Amino acid sequence: MIKELTTKLRSGDRQTLAKCITLAESHLLENQQTIHQLLQEVLPSTGKSVRIGITGAPGVGKSTFIDAFGCFLTSRGKKVAVLTIDPSSPITKGSILGDKTRMEKLSKNPAAFIRPSPSKSFPGGISHATRESILLCEAAGFEIIIVETVGVGQSEFSVKDMTDCFLLLMLAGAGDELQGIKKGIMEMADLIAITKTDGDNVKKAQQACTEYQHALHLIRPNDKGWEPKVITCSAVEEYGLDTCWDLISKFITHSKESGTFDSTRGEQKILWLNNQLNAELRKQFTHQDVFDKKWKEAEDRIKKNEWTVFDGVRYLIS
Ligand code: GDP
Repeated sequence: MIKELTTKLRSGDRQTLAKCITLAESHLLENQQTIHQLLQEVLPSTGKSVRIGITGAPGVGKSTFIDAFGCFLTSRGKKVAVLTIDPSSPITKGSILGDKTRMEKLSKNPAAFIRPSPSKSFPGGISHATRESILLCEAAGFEIIIVETVGVGQSEFSVKDMTDCFLLLMLAGAGDELQGIKKGIMEMADLIAITKTDGDNVKKAQQACTEYQHALHLIRPNDKGWEPKVITCSAVEEYGLDTCWDLISKFITHSKESGTFDSTRGEQKILWLNNQLNAELRKQFTHQDVFDKKWKEAEDRIKKNEWTVFDGVRYLIS
């Protein structure tokens, strides 16, 4: 089975890629073992893509932008994979990204692959299945991998830790607070694009572009020789997509030349190792039959102030 999956995946078969991602997302031990063996097989052909993280508040135009940008890239002969991470609204418990048809043009494009990640089914967070999905897309020959997330939770920090270039989409005149964008996210951005620069919005967007460039210059004046850039774009009018790709390419070239590309990828893998180890260790304890009973007791005693949290941990791991 693994041999067949590997051969089909390597040939770029999108159905097989989708199947492999489903296996990576599965909680079943046998599925995980299959995917880990497969990843071992394909490891040498992974890591060759450009991984782009894209974030922004709901409504900023992420899906419309990725639809247009993805088509722009495929028209340049690139194979593009899009992994969307929906952190699920903590208030409504529903999906933030919504069920509406997203990325209509790109989803019909034979050189593209789009896959939503159901992050809520992963108690330990989104990263393990998404990281594996990135490798699987690379093994299937995708050259550009876009990982999309909503910039209102924690998931953008995980996405930053698994991509090479981080793009923040912002609206002109909406106010940072209104957009739910934290300053921390602006600090992480290698590139900011002011969306919807069309119609009556053009002047406002250009003004915002100048203001954000100035703000960014103060926040991150010069990070290892790269000064984060702000551009304007319109997905509807397909304006600014070429500039966006040009700057991403420049950023990648710059980080490869300065050595930060390889060092960051190395650090990201070690971070994954750490996260995975934590998850595995936790799993070893929580999978024990007695764990639930012990957890209940620890919870009760901590709530009643009979035990400190440290007492509770010692009891749980004893
Ligand atoms: P998301 O929630 O960030 O994925 O945002 P969407 O891509 O769903 O876009 C939100 C709304 O903005 C939709 O009604 C889009 O039609 C509109 N929109 C997105 N991009 C543009 C653009 O470039 N120009 C204009 N005028 N509207 C846009």
